[in-house]
Amino acid sequence: MAAKIAILAGDGIGPEIVSEAVKVLECLQQSYALDIELEQAVIGGAAYDESGNPLPQKTLDLCKAADAILLGAVGGPQYEALERDLRPEKGLLGLRAELELFSNLRPALLYPQLVNASSLKPEIVSGLDIMIVRELTGGIYFGQPRGIRTLENGERQGYNTLVYAEHEIERIARSAFDVAMKRSKKVCSVDKANVLEVSELWREVMIRVSKEYPQIQLSHMYVDNASMQLVKWPKQFDVIVTNNLFGDILSDTAAMLTGSIGMLPSASLDKNGKGMYEPIHGSAPDIAGTNTANPLATILSVAMMLRYSLNQPELAVCVEQAVSAVLDQGIRTQDIADGGSSVSTRKMGEAVVSALQLKSK
Ligand code: NAD
Repeated sequence: MAAKIAILAGDGIGPEIVSEAVKVLECLQQSYALDIELEQAVIGGAAYDESGNPLPQKTLDLCKAADAILLGAVGGPQYEALERDLRPEKGLLGLRAELELFSNLRPALLYPQLVNASSLKPEIVSGLDIMIVRELTGGIYFGQPRGIRTLENGERQGYNTLVYAEHEIERIARSAFDVAMKRSKKVCSVDKANVLEVSELWREVMIRVSKEYPQIQLSHMYVDNASMQLVKWPKQFDVIVTNNLFGDILSDTAAMLTGSIGMLPSASLDKNGKGMYEPIHGSAPDIAGTNTANPLATILSVAMMLRYSLNQPELAVCVEQAVSAVLDQGIRTQDIADGGSSVSTRKMGEAVVSALQLKSK
């Protein structure tokens, strides 16, 4: 049976970059006999404009029925004044929560052709290939109680709650160990166990679950040290597993080691491997509609989809190699051109499709 893929372009540059990733999927369908069915739906600001709801029921139903979801990005300045529940980001957070996409995989991979795009010295970052596994549906972003209250003395106080139940730690541990089994089998769990009780439990559960994976080499690091080590000697890491808040921050640091936000994909998985795939960047309203955005992060999200949800690791490699071949040819969008000449979003997408077609022959 054909795998069902929901396509959610979203806002800003979303439609431009997703169009190019869809061309890649269609090429895989035609030239590599990939058995897929694509269906589009609206999310975020585009959905709000259409129906007043950033996550319409129809979109949610489509995503629930799909085997995988490809998302562009959501958000834009025109929606910032809306009340929180109607904002585009609510569509994305709602989808992650409804589908229980608790495991966020964020690779930070430096393409050798782009080593000069990093602000770090080439010897520090060349060959960099880290996978950050971030817990995505728990922790302080969702913990209750939360809010802003007024104290007896009339002063206002903001508060959030960092909570993790054992089952939430267990499942993210398994997710990280499963990913590591396909890589170097090294996992570093990042916490703040010297200060936080929730981290103490996190560490205890990580160690317990690791016993089910005797080949895995598990280490632990405090988050403050991890942020330092990521910049000092990032190649010491392979898989990093951490909570929602720490993962949010560390994965952005790791992303910047590679120099370009336009190159990095991500996956958010449920316990069965169903996933939502999206570039790590936002909707880039400053360049939306100009046909200059880099579509490679979205195209590489398709590669992750092939690997983690569609069980097609060979095709994932084909897409990654096609991207690498295009970079070898010197083809660059503006963000990775380093001041040199650049091509449009569409031309970059077409170049990847051509490279893929060439490989299929
Ligand atoms: P952003 O990632 O959209 O943009 C940051 C900078 O990177 C901008 O200068 C942009 O032009 C550039 N950039 C981003 N993607 C690029 C690409 N593919 N090619 C070339 N350049 C690219 O972050 P921001 O400006 O902080 O946020 C803009 C909007 O996106 C906001 O509304 C924010 O809420 C939203 N956002 C959405 C997501 C998501 O949908 N997952 C993630 C982050 C931000």
